[in-house]
Amino acid sequence: MVSTHTTLYLRVSEAKELLAKDFNGKSDPYCVIKVDNVVIARTATVYKTLDPLWGEEFILHMPSGFQMLSFYIYDADKVSGDDILGVASVTRDYMYENKNPKGLETWLSLQKANKDLEIQGEMLLEYGIRTSEATGQSFVFVTVMEGRDLAAKDKTGYSDPYVTVTCFDETKATSKQKKTRFPEWNETLEFLLPEDTCIADLSVIVTVWDKDNFSSDDFMGQIHLDSEDVTHGTIRNWHAVARRPTSDRWARRASRVDRGKIRVKLQLLEEIVLPSSCYRPLNELLADAVKMPTTPHSRDLGHLLWDMLEQDRTIELGAIAMSLVRFYLSQELIFEFLDAVIVRDIEKTDDVNTLFRGNTLGTKAVDNFMKVLAMPYLQRVLKPPVDRIINEKKTVELDPFKVNSVRTRRHSLHRESEESFVNHSLEAIEDYTCEIVNGIVASVTFCPQVLRRVLRNIQIRVREKWPEEVFEDVPYIAVSGFIFLRFFAPAVMSPKLFSLSDQHPNHKVIRTFTLLAKIIQSIGNLTPGCLGKEVWMEPLIPLITQKISEVKVYLDALVDVGDFSAAHRYLVRQQSNETILIQGYLHKCHYHCKRLFRPIVLKKCYFYLTRVMLCYRKTPEDEDTMVMVENICAVEKLDYGALGKSNMGQIIHKTSDESTAIIYFQAKDVNELTAWISAIRKTCKYNVCRIETFHPGVFKGDKWNCCRREQDIAPGCSPTYHGVVLGDWQDPLDPDVDAQIIYSQIAHSKDKIRKMQHDLRMTIAGNDPTRAAVPRDSNDAAMASLSLVSGVLDVTEQLAMSHQTFVESSPRLSHTSRSRSVSSSVSGEDGLF
Ligand SMILES: [Zn+2]
Repeated sequence: MVSTHTTLYLRVSEAKELLAKDFNGKSDPYCVIKVDNVVIARTATVYKTLDPLWGEEFILHMPSGFQMLSFYIYDADKVSGDDILGVASVTRDYMYENKNPKGLETWLSLQKANKDLEIQGEMLLEYGIRTSEATGQSFVFVTVMEGRDLAAKDKTGYSDPYVTVTCFDETKATSKQKKTRFPEWNETLEFLLPEDTCIADLSVIVTVWDKDNFSSDDFMGQIHLDSEDVTHGTIRNWHAVARRPTSDRWARRASRVDRGKIRVKLQLLEEIVLPSSCYRPLNELLADAVKMPTTPHSRDLGHLLWDMLEQDRTIELGAIAMSLVRFYLSQELIFEFLDAVIVRDIEKTDDVNTLFRGNTLGTKAVDNFMKVLAMPYLQRVLKPPVDRIINEKKTVELDPFKVNSVRTRRHSLHRESEESFVNHSLEAIEDYTCEIVNGIVASVTFCPQVLRRVLRNIQIRVREKWPEEVFEDVPYIAVSGFIFLRFFAPAVMSPKLFSLSDQHPNHKVIRTFTLLAKIIQSIGNLTPGCLGKEVWMEPLIPLITQKISEVKVYLDALVDVGDFSAAHRYLVRQQSNETILIQGYLHKCHYHCKRLFRPIVLKKCYFYLTRVMLCYRKTPEDEDTMVMVENICAVEKLDYGALGKSNMGQIIHKTSDESTAIIYFQAKDVNELTAWISAIRKTCKYNVCRIETFHPGVFKGDKWNCCRREQDIAPGCSPTYHGVVLGDWQDPLDPDVDAQIIYSQIAHSKDKIRKMQHDLRMTIAGNDPTRAAVPRDSNDAAMASLSLVSGVLDVTEQLAMSHQTFVESSPRLSHTSRSRSVSSSVSGEDGLF
């Protein structure tokens, strides 16, 4: 099976010069991210500003046919409802044309939101040309059969759709259907074909409208048919609705007001993933590079590959490191890989003070490995103190240059003396530092065994290079450099990026986190004296010194684990099955109802998901109710109109008696909803029981309130959506995708490898072994290098050929080819065939 894998790395950085919507001359902006017309995520709200800083990152796995990514900026307003401040969009083509190894960082101008652009869904049409036997006249006919999954244009979560068809300057309309996104018409509209018409110029425009009694009707989408479509007999097809071309008038009106700008960073990665067997030679090559690091062959192969990947690439180093980590995890060679890249870093370092300080393949690989394996550990350790700091909202400042301005900003009646303010700050900071560090040092047993083994190995490798007594601390610093400087400290600095908090803390709390991160960092450096420019830290030295000695005990305990052995492979596997992928409270709705009016009861339940099961319980004492992941048929959003509640999802699953049941749940916001839907979708990606259609409504009274079908077992009216899912550190491993990403990065250096091969051949040809001047060894070395380079080149070229074969035989894979009719993609998985 060949598939496309499209990933977008997105950073929503900031906006500036937004419109002011509140009395104070400010707004409370947040940004909603949509792919085509589906809301995928929103940033947190930043209060009272026209220049918000968000700095939020998202990994989005995109559907293969996506067209547009949009950023909607709103002003949060509890009283009158949220106002839209502006919208900016980028097309997929734009992202392709502006690809860049560092990602495309750009300011986008915000435009006035255009409701016309919010369209979705498909229409089933039947059309053709028929001739009346009686009169001999010909007609173009269009039967508007039904629509599905159309946009909701009214506040009720529904629309009141009708359709107009325009042909030969004549427009005819169907009747109006009330309150539905799944209208059915079965109405035929006919247009007389004038005798002198040139068939080639024939054009039929089908437009869907939402009837509004008090304002003008809303545009819901359009379909263009031309003579190609209409003159091939009677055709019946589902068509995706499209936007209409924006008028100049609209563009002029929209540009009149300056709505500000938003800065985003985009990196789009699209790979065509071949069948597993195509990657076998590459898998073997990558395994060879780490399996026996002591043999010169493995070592040299590794160096060749790591150098290429580090230096010549089209994506960020972190993304390559992530693919390598996930690839080697799937091959059960993660220890060998991390060892190889760590040893490479150590070999390249002469000055111990710079060890693991730069961004290399080695440091990035360990960073990503920690994120894949140890996020639940991080949350367990840091979430309680982070929550407390956010809730307490204390104003603290220790920097003497800033103390006065912070102090005088406060209300004059409560203004304290500088001395007492600093003392209170110091007290609070010491208290927080103790809570954080005490939590860390007491957490050894919760740290994943595999991570502890990797850290232990780093320590051993560093000691091998610097065994002398003067370097006694270096192995400690190496380990704490990873776990403190690259894991705990950045998480304290930006809790939201590490999922430790949903909200952006206010500016007071941000400052507290910054101060704490610096303290954690200097504790992690294990040298109390070196504070650099941060003189204000001086009063904290006794505490820092005390904590350093506790941290050393923690580090000793952390690396006190057995050697690498067969057991570690089991540990990696066990880790992956029992790891909780997502957990939290959702409101579960009990809804099996035959009666029309029945209050909807939402009960708060604790849910968690592993790779094997989805569990929930009402109270801690209750037993878990379990749904095996293999029995989940689909997880989808529920229409707002279905129960009149927002942020609802549904999990459709098989029960023990093979019938189907649905769990309805409500999340607190769209991010939580997308996170749950993404996590469940990813774990059941390969389920055999997956279904192709579902109902976005509920069965209410005697019918489904989406499509009004009258049997509760009626097949779904909407195709299940295998669209965008959020990427996550704990995504299931997919070795073919990662092998493909690694391959395409190696292929990027193909010319370089060819040149190496050529140069080596020349060297060998020039070395005449009979001449005494050329040492035998150097000739052998050149021969060995040549075979290595040729091996890499062979594997790369073989894969390039497979790609060519597969892409040529399946034109659909080319990203420029787009099919107007969606009927073919509805039944199969998006992007798979
Ligand atoms: Zn339905």
